[in-house]
Amino acid sequence: MKTEILPLNSSSAKKAAELIHSGNVVAFPTETVYGLGASVFDKEAVKKIFAAKGRPADNPLIVHVASKDKICTVASEIPKKAQIAIDTFMPGPITVVLPKRKEISPLVTGGKDTVGVRIPEHKLARMFLEECDCPIPAPSANSSTKPSPTTAKHVFDDLNGKIPLILDGGACLGGVESTVISFCTETPTLLRPGLITLEMLRDALGEVDVHPSVLENCKVDSVASPGMKYKHYSPKARVIIVSGSAETVCSLYDSALELSKRPVILWNEKDKDVLGSRAHYWLIEHNCISSAARNLFALLRQVDDEGFDTVFITAVDKKDEGLSVMNRMLRASAFTVLDDSSSLQDLKTALQING
Ligand code: AMP
Ligand code: MG
Repeated sequence: MKTEILPLNSSSAKKAAELIHSGNVVAFPTETVYGLGASVFDKEAVKKIFAAKGRPADNPLIVHVASKDKICTVASEIPKKAQIAIDTFMPGPITVVLPKRKEISPLVTGGKDTVGVRIPEHKLARMFLEECDCPIPAPSANSSTKPSPTTAKHVFDDLNGKIPLILDGGACLGGVESTVISFCTETPTLLRPGLITLEMLRDALGEVDVHPSVLENCKVDSVASPGMKYKHYSPKARVIIVSGSAETVCSLYDSALELSKRPVILWNEKDKDVLGSRAHYWLIEHNCISSAARNLFALLRQVDDEGFDTVFITAVDKKDEGLSVMNRMLRASAFTVLDDSSSLQDLKTALQING
């Protein structure tokens, strides 16, 4: 199959909607990452999403709608606190998990009786959704396990030949996937952190629980947020988080070089003086954590493109947007964190070097 890339405008949105209504999948931009959508009412098309991505069938899809009045076409009930979240944060980078209507196939919800619903803030994304005139389940438009795509080129790199159309809306401004919060638990529960932060949610809603999978490698009760149990966001290179001083990052880099690795550091621009000539990219620009969210996935892809095999990333504070950045970094690194007390042997273990 030939994969076409078209700039997203009213005529390409019409073409995309026609493809959707004839049983195809289409990739489209949002303010978080690119999504891969199909009609919610077309089971065969929904299966194509899972096939193109290589996504496990029990990992639910987020259903995208164009406006608030459409939420009740997928959800059977909107609890009071969910309504507050909808009124406060939508459209925006947030997904609310609600009881599903029976018309929504379990194929979409990974077999669950709940459904995640989202209204993108991205105006062109909403234009595409309005043109489709039906709810659009859409996970991130990457191959499963790869970093989520934040440009049309990332989608093309993963799905060329597997989908007919990518709508190009430029680089995503947010860069990490939506916040996911469930209103199907007694207290609202944060299942995945994002750019609508825990602090913002607690300001608006009062008490909000945090699911353990947000920051831990949670294998047991991962059913609440299936996506969190899979390997995620991984480039080919080995990612190692360093929760320590700038000097520790540099000495780990130097040791990796001596072990014949090709390391690179994802770094805070403000610490540039410590770096010397070590290979690096700026993860955090102008000391602003939102830039780390925007840059992380694109940089994880770039390190592979440039042939680096070892990536050191400095840990960030787990507050505000930092929680979503650490959540993605921990998964990309398979929860590998070194610190000031780590030895050469710890580095070798992290790099899977024997002896
Ligand atoms: P993706 O669209 O690839 O970013 O993945 C969507 C993620 O949202 C899933 O992996 C789940 O973790 C979460 N999610 C979506 N729908 C539900 C739901 N009904 N219940 C719990 N989590 C959900
Ligand atoms: Mg995804």
